[in-house]
Amino acid sequence: MTRDDRQSKPLELYIHIPFCEKKCNYCDFLSFRALPQLHREYTKQLCREIRTAGRGMENYRVVTIFIGGGTPSVFEPVLIRQIMEAVGENFRVAPEAEVTIEVNPGTLLKNKLAVYRDCKINRLSIGLQSADNRELAWLGRIHSYEDFLKTFQYARMEGFSNISVDLMSGIPGQTFDSWKNTLKKVTMLKPEHISAYSLIVEEGTPFWEVYGPKAEGGKSGQGRTKDREGERPAAGWPALPDEDMEYKIYSFTRTYLAGQGYGRYEISNYSRPGWECRHNIGYWTEVPYLGLGLGASSYVMGCRFRNESDIESYMALDFSAGDGGETLEALHGPVQKLSREERMEEFMFLGLRMVQGVSELDFAAMFGVKLTSVYGPVLERLKKDGLVKQEGTRIALTEWGMDVSNFVLSEFLL
Ligand code: SF4
Repeated sequence: MTRDDRQSKPLELYIHIPFCEKKCNYCDFLSFRALPQLHREYTKQLCREIRTAGRGMENYRVVTIFIGGGTPSVFEPVLIRQIMEAVGENFRVAPEAEVTIEVNPGTLLKNKLAVYRDCKINRLSIGLQSADNRELAWLGRIHSYEDFLKTFQYARMEGFSNISVDLMSGIPGQTFDSWKNTLKKVTMLKPEHISAYSLIVEEGTPFWEVYGPKAEGGKSGQGRTKDREGERPAAGWPALPDEDMEYKIYSFTRTYLAGQGYGRYEISNYSRPGWECRHNIGYWTEVPYLGLGLGASSYVMGCRFRNESDIESYMALDFSAGDGGETLEALHGPVQKLSREERMEEFMFLGLRMVQGVSELDFAAMFGVKLTSVYGPVLERLKKDGLVKQEGTRIALTEWGMDVSNFVLSEFLL
């Protein structure tokens, strides 16, 4: 590390590729299908944005890059190369940076992996969700378990030594046995990292029509929506696992993965020792991040903003006007400067998601006051209820606190 590197501040980059082959039944991400021509034009525009945004970031050192989506692997690999070259030419990227790309097993050809390696991408995040092909079909995924196996094997053959696999519980028709089978098949491959999220039925998705509160047979407000209440089979669709089953799956996951050498380091994330996702940890510990591309979010210098999310408006931006500063402002839209209280809340919300919790010393260094002087009564109450624990100068959620984390975290609102 050079002297300049030591003096520069760490920065994470998130690069959004909003295209997919087909929309999954549960997905409310900013993603859609488009022709290859738009892929190419979008890449050109994204590279213009990268060039313009890089001008104001000379004092930062990029420590992680995450190319997410959408489905970045839907792109011809040459487009990923162009994006990575633009980043390398316009940002100071640390040599040891963690560089991740999300891939869908239905879109990944062997030749793409070689290009990724060549572009210094050193981590793959593979979206599997389930090893059961029927469950994949209900989700509307475009791949099978066998496609995933091939992808994983090609990735190892290509030299990727840091692979994460995304799994999903709470899928229609999922049973305890099918989830166990998914975990078993995946851990046998020994990926370095596993993310295990549970399905949320989001408004505006096909699943909302089937499982949302207003679907046939449903009671208003009791669908398997964000608050995870109730269960309801719908005509022609299998039922969602009920709450008891969800809890059984959740508890089993923790125990089973621990037995296989995967420690939980965040509510939904597990890794073999030393393979935690640095990008995620940076996000939870408030390392500034800059989002590039359609609809990408940023948090830089205590300010939060989100890029334009309409593709036509994004493509129409003119980065060649002046020094591009005004165009960046138009791209970023309203900038929200967080108040001191909001930053304290963020510190707690994000930090407590991690198993190691938050440090009282970090809080004092960041805000100039003791954590207990702000949150003392809340902490005492949560400790008494067995939801929060204190270990030295660190405060963390207990296992029980993790189970009901939505409730516990809401207690830290100021
Ligand atoms: S592949 Fe991912 S981003 Fe694309 S539609 Fe499916 S869930 Fe959404």
